[in-house]
Amino acid sequence: MQSSTIDSTFSQKLLTWYHQHGRKDLPWQQDKTPYRVWVSEIMLQQTQVKTVIPFYQRFMQRFPDVLALANAPVDDVLHLWTGLGYYARARNLHKAAQTVRDLYSGEFPDTLEGMVSLSGIGRSTAGAVLSIASGKPISILDGNVKRVLTRYFGIHGWPGSKAIEQQLWQYADDLTPNTDTGLYTQAIMDLGATLCTRSKPNCDACPVQTTCLAFAQGAQAELPTKKPKKTTPVRTTVMLLPIWQGQVLIYKRPASGIWGGLFGLYEAESLQDAQSKAQNLALGDIQIEPLEEFRHTFSHFHLDITPVLMHLNKPPAGRVEEQETLWYDLNSPAKVGLAAPTLKLFSTLRKNL
Ligand code: SF4
Repeated sequence: MQSSTIDSTFSQKLLTWYHQHGRKDLPWQQDKTPYRVWVSEIMLQQTQVKTVIPFYQRFMQRFPDVLALANAPVDDVLHLWTGLGYYARARNLHKAAQTVRDLYSGEFPDTLEGMVSLSGIGRSTAGAVLSIASGKPISILDGNVKRVLTRYFGIHGWPGSKAIEQQLWQYADDLTPNTDTGLYTQAIMDLGATLCTRSKPNCDACPVQTTCLAFAQGAQAELPTKKPKKTTPVRTTVMLLPIWQGQVLIYKRPASGIWGGLFGLYEAESLQDAQSKAQNLALGDIQIEPLEEFRHTFSHFHLDITPVLMHLNKPPAGRVEEQETLWYDLNSPAKVGLAAPTLKLFSTLRKNL
């Protein structure tokens, strides 16, 4: 049987293919500065190329360099991000730009350690920026690359698990050439995005087909291994964060039931339900901003929580509803017991507001 090989032929084949067939006219492939590559990498997380392009172009027009981004109000950044989702990415982008301005004199750090110390930049994103913009021989392992490597080396096991991820990083490091690293990085990302796709990979056009284990074994559809299914039931809730000048409305929960007697956030079943709940709470005109969903796990179920920021446009009216309520000042917190997810949300808000 054929076997996968780690040698320079892998990168050579990929580079030859990329020269002939790779995408080279994407907006972030022109004038490849660390700033431009970094913004594209962050936007492309969980978002498709064709969706990202217009957002990227508007963003670059408004914030042409890292200082323009760092000096802008975060609201302007969020405004340009509207529609892209996962707003933590935009806040982290802004924060990282300010760190580059304040700690690195406006130049991106040129080491992996320096890059991963910036908000929202993990090892793979750091590798992409350093290799593509600065030609550093540093590997990446994003979703596309994980898919290519698990198939090429026939690796079974969920790539999100620590052991498999470590193995994949090792392969990624071994395959990444010391020269033309930036082109190689783009080539392997492109291979994953255009040929070695999630469903129906186009193996006939693949430059490394002859040494690909998944191809030899007909195992393309099984790889990468899917995340193991958990049997623990999942419930969902929407948590309301009415906010006015750094204060968030919370209420004391009934003594019985989960988080009994603690202060927590009002909840709703859906975003629509959240709007009518807001009316019941007499919040007046509000602007709604859903935040990234997160999971809180109890011993017998998972609770998927969608937090929704509700920015009040005028001071809150006095009393709301029957329960004991409190406008909780994030910067000068009252000494009350808080439910765990509320605590977590407040700590995230404190960092990002
Ligand atoms: Fe992916 Fe097919 Fe190429 Fe293997 S041969 S790397 S499965 S596209």
